[in-house]
Amino acid sequence: MNILIFGPNGSGKGTQGSLAKKKYDLDHIESGAIFRQHIGGGTELGKKAKEYIDRGELVPDDITIPMVLDVLKQSGAKGWLLDGFPRSIVQAQKLWDALQKDGVKLDYVIEILLPRQVAKNRIMGRRICKNDPNHPNNIFIDAIKPNGDKCRVCGGDLSARSDDQDEGAIDKRHDIYYDTKTGTLAASYFYKDLAPKAGFTYIELNGEGSIDSIKDTLLKQLV
Ligand code: AMP
Repeated sequence: MNILIFGPNGSGKGTQGSLAKKKYDLDHIESGAIFRQHIGGGTELGKKAKEYIDRGELVPDDITIPMVLDVLKQSGAKGWLLDGFPRSIVQAQKLWDALQKDGVKLDYVIEILLPRQVAKNRIMGRRICKNDPNHPNNIFIDAIKPNGDKCRVCGGDLSARSDDQDEGAIDKRHDIYYDTKTGTLAASYFYKDLAPKAGFTYIELNGEGSIDSIKDTLLKQLV
């Protein structure tokens, strides 16, 4: 089972992705995490990628595409959930060419739809509990509003992550994501057009619902 997942920062892509990953016991291949491993390990690739990542820009294709395709090839027999790649129309085409060439079947493409302003509010509203970063707290989402200024789960102190408050950085990431001509939405539409001809299923999820209702909708569509 091989799955691609698209969704803007703030859409709950991580949560929904891990659901699909668990259901089929897939390898989670996350381009951003692969870069972070290289940076942590001090590799040449990591050094080159870091300057782009620090500026909030995409790492050039001549570094990113071979790196991701290589990790895909090494994936286990159960398949993969690819997350964070492709992020541009060029990457989308190169990935498709590589899958065709290697005879790899794509089963699902999941797109989480969320208006840009809603995604931005969600990121800026996120609050982190000092006792457990997985306790959900967001001052802009009614279902998980903190209890005053304390964690809604355990009453712990809350704080905001500094990168969640950096509007310029959020806008830059969303400029890339919401670009329907050459950016990430262009990549997802490339797969949406291809789906009926190529025989995989394109699943659109409304990211404005509650986490549980999105999960239910997703699980119903994954067979
Ligand atoms: P992420 O963890 O997905 O937010 O990725 C962190 C950073 O890694 C991004 O801001 C980019 O600089 C870089 N990156 C991740 N995926 C890609 C990709 N598909 N193409 C180019 N750069 C990427």
